[in-house]
Amino acid sequence: MNKNINMEILASLCKRRGFIFQSSELYGGINGFWDYGPLGSELKRNIKDAWWKAMVRSREDVVGLDATIIMHPAIWKASGHADGFADPMVDCKDCRKRFRADQLCEEQGKQLIKEGSTFTLPEGTVCPACGSKNLTAPRSFNLMFKTYVGPVEDDSAVAWLRPETAQAIFAQFNNIYATARQKVPFGVAQTGKSFRNEINPRNYTFRSREFEQMELEFFIPPDEAVELLCGHVATLADNPDLAGAPQPDWGWEVWHRYWVEQRLAFYRAIGLPEADLHLYWQTGDELAHYARACVDIEYAFPFGIQELEGIAARSDFDLTQHQKHSGKSMEVFDEALKNAAKAKTPDELAAFRAKTVAAWTARGKTAEDADAFLDKLLEGKYVPHVIEPSAGTDRLALALLCNAYDEETLTDAKGKTDTRTVLRFSPAIAPIKAGVFPLVKNKPELYAKAREIFARLQRRWNCFWDEAGAIGRRYRRMDEAGTPWCVTVDFQTLEDGTVTLRERDSMTQERITLDALVAKLDEAIG
Ligand code: ATP
Repeated sequence: MNKNINMEILASLCKRRGFIFQSSELYGGINGFWDYGPLGSELKRNIKDAWWKAMVRSREDVVGLDATIIMHPAIWKASGHADGFADPMVDCKDCRKRFRADQLCEEQGKQLIKEGSTFTLPEGTVCPACGSKNLTAPRSFNLMFKTYVGPVEDDSAVAWLRPETAQAIFAQFNNIYATARQKVPFGVAQTGKSFRNEINPRNYTFRSREFEQMELEFFIPPDEAVELLCGHVATLADNPDLAGAPQPDWGWEVWHRYWVEQRLAFYRAIGLPEADLHLYWQTGDELAHYARACVDIEYAFPFGIQELEGIAARSDFDLTQHQKHSGKSMEVFDEALKNAAKAKTPDELAAFRAKTVAAWTARGKTAEDADAFLDKLLEGKYVPHVIEPSAGTDRLALALLCNAYDEETLTDAKGKTDTRTVLRFSPAIAPIKAGVFPLVKNKPELYAKAREIFARLQRRWNCFWDEAGAIGRRYRRMDEAGTPWCVTVDFQTLEDGTVTLRERDSMTQERITLDALVAKLDEAIG
C-alpha cells in the first residue's frame, strides 16, 4: 500500500468522487465542518452499521440508545464538562493567529507547563505562523457550543450542544436498566453527532467541530462484588481467554483488556492492517483522576500516528456524579450478591471489610467512603462501574480512506504506462458493492437483461448502473469509488445467463452465473 499519501491528493479525490465536501462551500466554507456526499454518506453508514452490528446486534449483553443532542444543562455540570471541558489557547499578538497551546508546544518538542489549572508556555515558544515570540499566556477555552432553548436569550435558557454522546447513557441509566431486562454486566451503545468548538480544526476531517461518535458504556460490577460472588477476582495475571465468552469472575482489568481486544478485532475486520494500528496506554499523570486505565487505539495516518478511539476504565465516577447532582439513586440491586454476603461468617466479613478499606485508602479514598460502600454492597446494592470504548466515525472514515487509497502503474501490451487510482475498501464498507454495465446500449434485449440483473442485485446491495463510455473507463470510475466488483452483461449473457465479473484489486475477469455471483457477494460482504 502507498503510505506516503499526499492528503491534498486524497482530499481532491474525495471531492471529485463525492465522498467529502467542505461544508457551505458555496459561501466560502466554514472551518471545521464537512459534508459527506453520495459516496461518503454510504461509507459512513456502512461504518456505523458495522459498528452497531458488532457492538449491539451480535451480542446479547448490549442494548442501544438514541438520545437528544441538547439535554438538560445540569448533565454537563454533573459530568464536569461545564467547568472542565476546556483546552488551553494562545494568540499571537503579531499575526493574530490562534493556537492550542499544548499542540503548539508539542510541535516544537516542548511541553506545556501545568500547575493546577494554570498553564504557562515554556521558554522560547514561537508562533508557528510568523515566528514571533509575542504570544499571550495560555487561557482556558471551553469547547462546548452554547445555545438558548426557547425565545428568551437569558442565563436560564442556556443549553449546550453535546460534546460527547456518552452522558445521555449515564443520564438514562435507570430507565434503560428498568426496561432492557439486562443485568450487570451489560452495555448501552449509542452513535450520533457531537460538537466541540475546537480551537484549531485540522488534518482534513480528523479534528472537526461537528462530528459523529460511536460510544459504548459497558457496566460492570465493582471488583468487591465479584469477589463476594465468585470468591476471587480474575486479573490479567490469570491469563483469561479474552477471545472467549466473558466470565463472571472477571475484574475491571480483564473487562478493560477484553474491550481493547474486541475493538482491535473490529478494526482489523473492516480492513485496517494490524501493522497500522497502535495502542497508547495513558500514563499516571495523563489519566483523569477517576480513571483506572485508558488506552488509545491509534492509526498510522499519513500525518502521524493519531487516536481513533479511547477505551477508558472509568470506575463508578459517571453514575456517582449523576447520583450526587440529581439526588436520585443510580444503584442496582443483585439478589445473588446479597445472598453471597449473607453466607459469609462474621470473621470472613470482617476480613473482607478490612481488606477493602485498606485498598480504598491506598487509592486515596477515605475509610468512611469505603465503609458506606461496603454497607450497601452487603445488602446487594452498588453503583455500576464502567468501561467506555469511545470511537469517532469520521476519524474512522478518514483512516479507511487513507488505508484504501492506492495508485498503481499499469503497463499495456504496447509498453504504454498509465496510473490507476483505486480505493481498496473491504467489501463490507465499500460504498458501492457492484457496478452493473450493459456492454452496449442499443440492443434492447441485452439492455433489458442488464436492468433485470441490476434490479436483482440492487435489492440486496448498493449497486451502480453505468451505461456511459467504454467498459474500461467504467471500470476506472468504479476503481476510484472503491467498488470491489463490476458486472458486465454481454451477448453471451443472453445465451447462457453468465456475466463477466471483474475484480477491482486483481483486475481479473471471469464468467460466472448469476447465482454464483450472488453467493460470492454474499460471502464477501456478509
Ligand atoms: P483528541 O485528544 O484527539 O482531542 P479526545 O481524547 O478528546 O480526542 P475523546 O473525548 O476520547 O477524544 O473522544 C472519543 C473519540 O471521538 C476520539 O477518539 C475521536 O475518534 C472522536 N473525536 C473527538 N474529538 C473529535 C473531533 N474534534 N473531530 C473528530 N473526531 C473527534
